Amino acid sequence: MKMKAIVKPYRRPGLELHEVDKPVPADDEVLIRICKTAICGTDLHIYNWDEWSQATLKPPLTIGHEYVGVIEELGKNVKGLELGHVVSGEGHIVCWHCRNCRAGNMQWCRNTKGVGVNRDGAFAEYLCIPAINVINIGEDIDTDIVSFFDALGNATHTALMFDVIGEDVLVTGAGPIGIMAAAICKHNGARNVVITDMNEYRLDLAKKLGITSTVNIKTEKLEDIMPKKGLVEGFDVGLEMSGSINALKQMLKNMRNGGKIAQLGLFSSNTEINWNDIILKGLTIKGVYGRQMFETWYKMAAMVQSGLDLSQLVTHRFHYTQFKEAFDIMNTGNSGKIILNWSEI
Ligand SMILES: [Zn+2]
Repeated sequence: MKMKAIVKPYRRPGLELHEVDKPVPADDEVLIRICKTAICGTDLHIYNWDEWSQATLKPPLTIGHEYVGVIEELGKNVKGLELGHVVSGEGHIVCWHCRNCRAGNMQWCRNTKGVGVNRDGAFAEYLCIPAINVINIGEDIDTDIVSFFDALGNATHTALMFDVIGEDVLVTGAGPIGIMAAAICKHNGARNVVITDMNEYRLDLAKKLGITSTVNIKTEKLEDIMPKKGLVEGFDVGLEMSGSINALKQMLKNMRNGGKIAQLGLFSSNTEINWNDIILKGLTIKGVYGRQMFETWYKMAAMVQSGLDLSQLVTHRFHYTQFKEAFDIMNTGNSGKIILNWSEI
């Protein structure tokens, strides 16, 4: 049996729609019929064939890891899941035997394999993953939102890294994950949530999701905004989502003594910072990767069920055959989440 899939067939920029073999679930795997997928920054890196992709990917490979689908087939040893369930899936396939896996810290597995990065992904009519990675989704949650639960998981994991109740939070980087992280901090009782970027479209999108304190660092100074928000000693919590060294430097400068920073943004090259800023201020910087398996999935679903409204984040929808148009819009930077439709829920 064959199926359609968006494939990286070669070691250069671009992606192609190919006919590939439809996967067959092993005894402990589940076959998911894909309904909607969302495009992640990672997919854009692969499309553009940047340095990270060149070092990481081994084409040919079906890409994609943000999706919602329906269970089509179960391996014979799978328990607790049923045909027809609406599901998404954790994109890290872990080993379950390294020290971190055995300690329950699967997000730090040393042998992790990424769906759509190290093994075939979800931009296809069907996806096969281990049953343990399948996440059942409540029927009360909009499937548009579920299609990017993987990304919401990164935002949730970062935003919940430190206590934000009553705190002043600085989010640097208003891409979809930064905006979602800011919305989560508001949802969870932060006093002020300030988000910075250099792209006006993205800051406007943040406003649509209720993040009213936006700073375009091209034209405005963060330091001018802070007193207006009642910030005297600096930000209590920083979420660095951009991977921009200038953003991190600005954050370090504007944290209060004893502040805490969660660092999700990946830097594209070696970066130099003034370590004395960190030492003398007693700052904590925590690297954040992936999601906590599987508690983060529970938390994000619960927050959406309790009123975290992310519907405005979806800015474009395409049929999967129009994927090139979708990626070209992503490359302009003027988009929120872009959804590709594959089949009916
Ligand atoms: Zn492991």
